[in-house]
Amino acid sequence: MELSGLQIFKYLPAAKKAEHTNCKLCKQPTCMAFALKLAKNQVDISDCPFAPEELKEKFLHSRKQPQKTVEIDGLKIGGENVLYRHEKTFINPTAFAVELDMHAPDFADKIKRLESFEITRVNEKYKVDLVIIKNCDSDVSTSLRWIKEEDFLRLPLKNATCETFKLTKENLINIRTRAIKEKDENFSEPVYVKFESGINAEEVCAQASYYICKYANMLVFTDFDEALFSTLITLRQNIFTDPQKPLQVEAKIYEFNNPDENSIIFMTTNFALTFFAVAAELENLNVPSYLVVTPADGMSVLTAWSAEKFTAKVAAKTLKKFGLANKVKTRKIIIPGLLAHMKQELQDEIEDFEIVVGTVEAYEISDFVKNNC
Ligand code: SF4
Repeated sequence: MELSGLQIFKYLPAAKKAEHTNCKLCKQPTCMAFALKLAKNQVDISDCPFAPEELKEKFLHSRKQPQKTVEIDGLKIGGENVLYRHEKTFINPTAFAVELDMHAPDFADKIKRLESFEITRVNEKYKVDLVIIKNCDSDVSTSLRWIKEEDFLRLPLKNATCETFKLTKENLINIRTRAIKEKDENFSEPVYVKFESGINAEEVCAQASYYICKYANMLVFTDFDEALFSTLITLRQNIFTDPQKPLQVEAKIYEFNNPDENSIIFMTTNFALTFFAVAAELENLNVPSYLVVTPADGMSVLTAWSAEKFTAKVAAKTLKKFGLANKVKTRKIIIPGLLAHMKQELQDEIEDFEIVVGTVEAYEISDFVKNNC
């Protein structure tokens, strides 16, 4: 744990009412000012000649990076500082590597399959992070990031794979705990788990899901399965998204299938997950439509409502700002079903449009439009 300004201050002369209190030799007006700046790394501990050895040791220990970062051609592995995401944030998502044997008859086909694999989720594009080439005796012509097996094995990464799932998970937890809590340098290397071929995809999926949560920095697969990777990438994105920075999209009016003044209008908040779920449905509807996205600090509709980020006043103000009433002849706005309780409140504020309660789930939009629009 990093030391706070107050924890640092306790060791300084002013806290002990000792000689040199607030002497300003460190070029700060008081010991407290120095402590607060030191906690933020804005001054150096050596600037105070009266800092006791105990503080220096504690401070240096608190600044020690618990886990090293290893970089392979721009791919960062490790560098984690916490055991749990809610303590601060996770840094680098678990990397997914696939091991291929250059001498295998299907090598070229597998490279092609890996190259064509790409998924887009919440506006982020994902591919396989790394290809590890066994028996590599010539250059590999591929757009993917790759490394020879012998070079990979020379990296400061620790193979945490044990004989059984139980032992591997215990090993991962032990390594991460020792690295973070004790800052033990013997456990500071990022770790990977390798799946040998022959394990069925469901088993690999279950085990890999656990390892993504706790605490593999990298997973190495010897088989490649598009469905498995899509599932694991989805989980990984959820685990490694910083909850303190909600994914959000721009608040504006989005258009689908060339809408005109008579097209239907939906409304939601700017939480990215909701937006992309609704946007995908509207795109596939083949019906021209508008989607009004209100500013809500990236909160989902119910969260935004409870945090008073989505209120009738905000909705009315947003519509006015976008000039929607002048843009369309349509006089109905479909709101998310989760906000049904706000219908009257919204209606009182939004005079130009009739408020219609839509669906709770995005996948129900298609049926809703067929039956109601
Ligand atoms: Fe306090 Fe040390 Fe700065 Fe003097 S040099 S004011 S003792 S922190």
